[in-house]
Amino acid sequence: YEPPTPLPIRRLEESLINRIAAGEIIHRPASALKELIENSLDAGATSIRVTVKDGGLKLLQIQDNGCGIRKSDLPILAERFTTSKLSTFSDLSRISTYGFRGEALASMSHVSHLSVITKTRSETCAYRAHYMDGKLVPAQSGQTTEPKPCAGNDGTTITIENLFFNTPTRLSALRNTSEEYSRILDVLTKYAIHNPKISFVCKKAGSGSPDLNTPASSTIPQAVRMLYGQSVEKELLHTTVSSGDPKTPESWTSEAYFTNANYQSKKTIFLLFINHRLVESSRIKRAMEGVYHGVLPKGASPFMYLDLQIDPRSVDVNVHPTKKEVHFLNEEDITMKICDALQEKLAEKSQSRTFEYQT
Ligand code: ADP
Ligand code: MG
Repeated sequence: YEPPTPLPIRRLEESLINRIAAGEIIHRPASALKELIENSLDAGATSIRVTVKDGGLKLLQIQDNGCGIRKSDLPILAERFTTSKLSTFSDLSRISTYGFRGEALASMSHVSHLSVITKTRSETCAYRAHYMDGKLVPAQSGQTTEPKPCAGNDGTTITIENLFFNTPTRLSALRNTSEEYSRILDVLTKYAIHNPKISFVCKKAGSGSPDLNTPASSTIPQAVRMLYGQSVEKELLHTTVSSGDPKTPESWTSEAYFTNANYQSKKTIFLLFINHRLVESSRIKRAMEGVYHGVLPKGASPFMYLDLQIDPRSVDVNVHPTKKEVHFLNEEDITMKICDALQEKLAEKSQSRTFEYQT
């Protein structure tokens, strides 16, 4: 037996390490977009406009009318762990438990060409800056890295070009641009339902008519009607459930919109927001679908939207923030109480139907 000759251990180049790490955070155009939407919402935007080319791989641009970024912050904007949202360790458990803690823009700058145009209300003009690998870079060779004054509206426009240009394996795994575009539309649709007071627009670059367009100041049912159709909206039931002493870690509140037995979809439509962040939980989904057993015929599925707010302290912070599947304290108990409330509403509805038939 001849063991292999050991090879020397080398330190990976910094840029390679960053690129690998960024790929773990930004999986595809839709995951980049989710981060960008949340940044715009955090900035208080009431209008979010998205432009897409080639499923977001060639171009993903998001324009908001939020607070903008101060000119003096632009040099460190795309560095790792730079944020305006968190400063002490205890903040970490209080806010943005699912957030990237200042990693989103940094990650994007390692796997794309990132540029920013931004204007705060107190500035007289906008500034444009370009980033690569976390740092400011010149727009063209020979120019300075200094952010340049330019024309622009109040708010921020973030442009991501050539996503994954330097990670060819990732890029080749995402060749189906129409699949990526429908994922982008799906993320936007869900955020538009959850934020009916905010206007969302999404279009392909060069196309005149948007594929998604919601007005500002509508309501959740109106948004459902616009985005999922009247057939869903006219069968919606609504319930709110909450529990626990407010201000204790055990307290939580929830609001749900879900269809009654008259609506029958082939596949379940499930929107889950926990603390205003779009997440996935196959356990909660399955539990809520279970309520419809015996209500819907076999093979038919409902539409369900759940807005759950829990104390950030009860979210399992050991789960990596990029993992879409979430777990939290008292999950089973909370899920059960929500399912009970759904069941009650569905039963009420079917009773009133029987009553309608009788009279
Ligand atoms: P995080 O959101 O966790 O702070 P990001 O990398 O997503 O990290 O963003 C870094 C910082 O850039 C934010 O804290 C915020 O100050 C600023 N920022 C990003 N996007 C916007 C935006 N659309 N409008 C205003 N400020 C923004
Ligand atoms: Mg962010």
